[in-house]
Amino acid sequence: MIVGIDLGTTNSLISVFRNGQTELIPNALGHLLTPSAISLADDGMILVGLPARERQATHSHLTATAFKRWMGTDHNIKLGKQSMRAEELSALVLKALKADAEAWLGESVTEAVITVPAYFNDVQRKATQAAGRLAGLKVERLLNEPTAAGLAYGLQERTDHATFLVFDLGGGTFDVSVLEYFDGVVQVRASAGDTRLGGEDFVQVLRDWFIEAAPDLNAKEKAGLAEDGALWHAAEQAKRDLTEHEMTTMRLQCLDRSVVLELTRAEYERRCAGLLQRLRRPLERALMDAKLEPSSLTEIVLVGGASRMPMIRQMVTRLFARLPLRTINPDETVARGAAIQAALKARDAALDELVLTDVMPYSLGVVVTEEVDGRRYDDRFSPIIERNTAVPVSRVQTYSTVQDGQTLIILDVRQGESPLGSENLLLGTLEVSIPPKPRGHIGVNVRFSYDVNGLLEVEAHVPATGKTIQSVIQRNADVMTEIEIKIALEKIKALKIHPRDKQENAYLIARAKRLYEDRLGRERQDISHALTRFEALLDSQDEVLIRQHNREFKSYLDSIDKSFVL
Ligand code: ADP
Ligand code: MG
Repeated sequence: MIVGIDLGTTNSLISVFRNGQTELIPNALGHLLTPSAISLADDGMILVGLPARERQATHSHLTATAFKRWMGTDHNIKLGKQSMRAEELSALVLKALKADAEAWLGESVTEAVITVPAYFNDVQRKATQAAGRLAGLKVERLLNEPTAAGLAYGLQERTDHATFLVFDLGGGTFDVSVLEYFDGVVQVRASAGDTRLGGEDFVQVLRDWFIEAAPDLNAKEKAGLAEDGALWHAAEQAKRDLTEHEMTTMRLQCLDRSVVLELTRAEYERRCAGLLQRLRRPLERALMDAKLEPSSLTEIVLVGGASRMPMIRQMVTRLFARLPLRTINPDETVARGAAIQAALKARDAALDELVLTDVMPYSLGVVVTEEVDGRRYDDRFSPIIERNTAVPVSRVQTYSTVQDGQTLIILDVRQGESPLGSENLLLGTLEVSIPPKPRGHIGVNVRFSYDVNGLLEVEAHVPATGKTIQSVIQRNADVMTEIEIKIALEKIKALKIHPRDKQENAYLIARAKRLYEDRLGRERQDISHALTRFEALLDSQDEVLIRQHNREFKSYLDSIDKSFVL
């Protein structure tokens, strides 16, 4: 069985396609959403998901969230003494999802379709594949998230012909795709996005506001507050409150006192004006590339948890002069699409009629020297495949030497839209030896091939020598090498992962600790007593008693904690 995985910045989901439909798989806590969070527990075990995210407020130095933002960089994220790459942390999330699916399906799961933001570059895509490998999953396909949402939408609505725009605002990324659905064929017309814009940026607005508005804090206290996990939790809660209400109260323990501040939705929205502005550009670009007017769209499909904010719905309504579709679950659609793609790969008969074609959202080319009016200009970008070309695709371009007697051509392969080569992202270089000849007398044919996963292969052919150099692209330094992956595999194997069947207990303990830090006085004492009793019971290892008490402890925590869960 190939599973579909939505590996999100904030939340991840796993799904399968069975008996003609998509099915989301619950985790050990019974939730469909697993927070993409990792924490190192006090006993040295690794916690994944909700128990890990609960520790963000109390043990932020031992907890990692939103690490998808670091995919495809060699940035190290610290968990106490451990230091991990985003690929490794993502692999731990994937491993947990895999275990959930295996428990649910009763069979081992080794193949997956994993979704990525359409705007993920070559390096970030390779990083996602590496994360899959580290989790013991063969990544059958990388699928663009809005395309996945489009597949799920197409299958759910089953209209004859529709042109729709998928607007996906998640925790850390923003993706837009324009798709056309016609008689079972889902075709992506254009994609655009911003991999550094999402719900977290709206939380940041609230954190900044709180620090600015909190009275009588010196610079050092303000700096400390900026790092405080409890402030993140309070700001996340306030953001969600402001989705439901016109006003919210943010409360936080700062040193020895409680700081309580009120904020209206109107003021919050004013402070988010810059972020809303940044959402417009990918929207405009996707429509322009698809050669469409906003009015010719059949439907606007909002996905991603952050699209629930009223200001987002209002912006979309104003921009497109119509209300966005409401029948799609913004959290689940991408995962369902991943399961559909997995079934397409497995050639499920129920999907016989469905065909998908996708595009790559950015241009790929090489850096060249150009001659204009007899003058030479270095560092020019020469695109070989332009953005929003349907994949798979293969294109050839011929380049020639610029110097007499030149014996080497260095192909500097880049991705992006800037006319300046150096402003685009370096994917790698390829060195091609050539026989010395007068300039312009020797050429090299450069072939670029994109596959359906959005991964690139480069081939250089020199007609003068008959030689072909294939894809020995010198890797970008940020892509994990084979050796690094092997080392990481060993590292992950050596980690002690908190057992799946004890996940709920770990969650309740982490939650109680957060509430203890949050509350004062009598309530705090009660929490402490309940926690001590529960921990003592866990030591007794009496499974029946533990389960019974677990339920009681949970309802007690539910009764005093009304904050967001997922
Ligand atoms: P990702 O795909 O990046 O994992 P999700 O689609 O799960 O992200 O969306 C997570 C984002 O949605 C978070 O920033 C979260 O705060 C935000 N979010 C979820 N529910 C709400 C809500 N009711 N109001 C505002 N933001 C919300
Ligand atoms: Mg998402």
